[in-house]
Amino acid sequence: MTNIPEMLESIKEIKNSLPEGVTLVAATKTVPADIINLAIEAGLTDIGENRPEELCEKYPLLKKDGVRFHIIGGLQTRKVKSVIDKVDMIQSLDRPSLAKEIDKRSKEIGKITDCLIEINLGKEEGKSGVCPEDALDFYLSLCEYSNIRIRGVMAVPPVGKLEEYYNILYKIYADILKKSKNSDKIDIISVGMSSDYEQAVSLGSNMVRVGSKIFGKRNYLV
Ligand SMILES: *Cc1c(COP(=O)(O)O)cnc(C)c1O
Repeated sequence: MTNIPEMLESIKEIKNSLPEGVTLVAATKTVPADIINLAIEAGLTDIGENRPEELCEKYPLLKKDGVRFHIIGGLQTRKVKSVIDKVDMIQSLDRPSLAKEIDKRSKEIGKITDCLIEINLGKEEGKSGVCPEDALDFYLSLCEYSNIRIRGVMAVPPVGKLEEYYNILYKIYADILKKSKNSDKIDIISVGMSSDYEQAVSLGSNMVRVGSKIFGKRNYLV
């Protein structure tokens, strides 16, 4: 359960602590729409959902004026169609079949969809993301998709190991930037969560995804 005064205080505190140019994405999994709306009123501009079903359920109830929606969790190819008209960015692009589907569904609705390539920095089993050594080739393979615009990289590093892995993420970002095609606009490194967003920003992240620090401990039963 979210304590509203604490939530409002956290939003203020986090926003004040972030340097200009760093985007705060609120990770809103399990948080009810009415609470998210209060957070939006308090100044949150970017909402990140993990599950397409949850986004679709809450979407009609959410305030949208000036708000951007992100998919930040592993995305099944068959779910792309349901979210493509709602999202401003898909942060979990990690395989050819998903790229193909995002491109196809974006084309259908006349949209170019901003995406981040998700990197599985620690090569952890069961986690989404491309292996670090495959990331550049994967990026280059996306050239054929005219309705995808790559904006950078995203990662959930192994717990507590952000510092150790940040350089690998940055190197991939820099390699992609060097090879980028004109239609892409590579300017986002999305890493950092409640426990380490300040450290992430000090290392160079310019997009942090914060959930429990804003909304309190998640209740997965709701
Ligand atoms: C839940 C989640 C976050 C936020 O996690 P907190 O530790 O609650 O801040 C960030 N990124 C992703 C991909 C998530 O699933």
